[in-house]
Amino acid sequence: MSAVLMDGKALARDIRAAVKEKCLTMKTPPTLAVVLVGDDPASAIYVRHKAADCAECGIRCLDYTLGGDTTEQRLLSLVDELNERADVDAILVQLPLPPQIRENVVLERIDPRKDADGFHPDNVGRMLQFAPRFLPCTSAGILALLRRYEIDPDGKHCVVIGRSNIVGKPTAVLMLQAHATVTICHTHTADLAAQCRQADILISAAGRAGLVRADMVKEGAVVIDVAMNRGEDGRLCGDAEPAVAEKASFLTPVPGGVGPMTRAMLMENTLRGALLRRGAAE
Ligand code: NAD
Repeated sequence: MSAVLMDGKALARDIRAAVKEKCLTMKTPPTLAVVLVGDDPASAIYVRHKAADCAECGIRCLDYTLGGDTTEQRLLSLVDELNERADVDAILVQLPLPPQIRENVVLERIDPRKDADGFHPDNVGRMLQFAPRFLPCTSAGILALLRRYEIDPDGKHCVVIGRSNIVGKPTAVLMLQAHATVTICHTHTADLAAQCRQADILISAAGRAGLVRADMVKEGAVVIDVAMNRGEDGRLCGDAEPAVAEKASFLTPVPGGVGPMTRAMLMENTLRGALLRRGAAE
């Protein structure tokens, strides 16, 4: 058996088209402010992609690039300014931040009604209560991809590898909300392979190439590979070794699976921010 490859690129294109259609009906375009601090090359690429996605969707994108020596106070003042501005609907501060800036302090400063990434504790709390306002983009993207392929987590055993605030934890919560039975694995998990073999849906977000071997995957399981690693040959790869495609029923390719979905969900969150703030006016 060879797994069906889940086409995140195609679904992301459909989502951007739907966002664009809605944006065209609005009096003024939704506006996303993207703040990049420092010159991390990967972050710079992500920010460029986000600007291109915005252009395609008819979202106004405001780019702020600050030097790597920016103080926490300077960044907080910019966040305050963007919070206050009536023409800004959503704010994204690109992570990671340089070491002199505390990530949690900055994320908590963003107005939770403009929190495009969904990382503010207020939004995390709402998600935990199954009454979300904004959902973290990668986790929301995974759920959208499962829906597109009519894979219903209800009653399934879902194993998530990774417990970060950005991917692992929110993904586990959304799978729980979708009525899966959820196991979260991490670096202290005693027997990762045994846990993974229990999974009907295995979601790997460890960032370790080759961590998920074919013998750890139950025949016919759905495997969502979130990771973006550089292989020894310099090419982008996920956590799953290639042979996993022979065991799984569905598999997300890397690249072209979860990555494009994360970006598409940011466009949805920006539109959502605009609709929330403008309310009945639109
Ligand atoms: P992270 O380093 O913050 O977290 C990794 C998690 O994996 C940790 O909780 C750790 O306990 C666990 N882990 C690591 N090695 C393990 C092992 N050997 N066994 C068991 N658990 C292990 O990373 P993150 O920010 O959560 O990102 C994870 C991966 O997902 C990275 O490859 C990142 O590039 C990728 N990512 C992809 C997208 C996307 O859109 N596709 C978005 C965000 C992150």
